[in-house]
Amino acid sequence: MVRELRDTKLIIDLEKIKKNIEVVKNIIGPDVAFMPVIKANGYGHGAVGIAPAIMETKPAYLAVATLSEAVELKEAYPDYPVFVMGHTPDQYLPYAVEYGIALTVFDLSQVTLLGRLASEAGKTATVHVKVDTGFHRLGKMPSPDYTDEVCAMFDVDAVNIEGIFSHLALANDEENDKQYDMFCDFIEEIEQRGYEFKYKHIADSIATVDYPQYHMNMVRPGAIIYGMKRNEAATVPVEPALVFKTAISQLHEIKAGEGVSYDYLWKAERDSIVATLPFGYADGYPRNLRDKGYVVIAGIKCPVVGVICMDQCIADVTELAAVTDVHPGMEAIIYGDGSETSMGAMTIAEAASLAGSNKNEIIARIPARPQRIYI
Ligand SMILES: *Cc1c(COP(=O)(O)O)cnc(C)c1O
Repeated sequence: MVRELRDTKLIIDLEKIKKNIEVVKNIIGPDVAFMPVIKANGYGHGAVGIAPAIMETKPAYLAVATLSEAVELKEAYPDYPVFVMGHTPDQYLPYAVEYGIALTVFDLSQVTLLGRLASEAGKTATVHVKVDTGFHRLGKMPSPDYTDEVCAMFDVDAVNIEGIFSHLALANDEENDKQYDMFCDFIEEIEQRGYEFKYKHIADSIATVDYPQYHMNMVRPGAIIYGMKRNEAATVPVEPALVFKTAISQLHEIKAGEGVSYDYLWKAERDSIVATLPFGYADGYPRNLRDKGYVVIAGIKCPVVGVICMDQCIADVTELAAVTDVHPGMEAIIYGDGSETSMGAMTIAEAASLAGSNKNEIIARIPARPQRIYI
């Protein structure tokens, strides 16, 4: 039983996440392995909280960005298969071996070290090789030297070279094809030397949904399993799984001309009623939503006015007070899931657009402070 200690909380619908995963699985079909991405605390949904529901869908791995995220999951669920997509510096390799975490590699020297650590521990380490096909973030570009290097990785004891992967920049169709072809050619050269990869992957959410030609035999979707799709009009029937809520702390009646919050940057144009809400930028709410964002209270939009503070902000509830009794403790929806239950609340997509950001940033930046309630 979770102890609720604060009104500002995220309500996360695990059934929706599972349904979104079923949608993705129908797109990829039974022969493509599925590696859902739950980095950045499960895109803000709480990695440890959502992992058991996701495991019910039988993924090949849970993917995260960092070893620290992987260890957090392994501490909670030692048996879940976890893959780190980012770079793990050498000094942290012993932890990957200890917890049995699969890693991304692109250096023979690192694979050699990993093999030594694994055999000392009486274990086998698992890795996927990263290939840079133009993104220039991680991995090496295909070259005869890199072909030799990857082939030599297969000869290292106590390391299972299980997969190979790259990442699309999604610049345009032509560039995508160029990256994909470069990746396939590189794999072919290695395979011609008699080495094989169980998993080959290049597709994130966008590629999983929009470019089935890049599915290979594994996909790594993140955003889409949280109901975030590239284009709101797209027909993929996924749904956001998160509602961000709070409740009014206090009400103030102010006179026309009075300001609120730091620097009085918003001043009431008429006699107004303003509500203090106990969330701020330390709850991941973009500070630049000042005078743009709104909360929904009893179905009415109430604009967020004045500077957004670290832990609190202020909404103008004058219109609301004209139609109903407003009182402290009333629920306010910060981000809705677009469904009827969140009654016209700002969606993640709208928050992203008003804040000049993208949906992934809005959800990934929600820190640990607001409690997650799973339903
Ligand atoms: C974050 C990430 C993904 C998932 O991206 P989405 O756009 O959220 O689907 C896939 N692969 C890598 C390497 C990533 O870093």
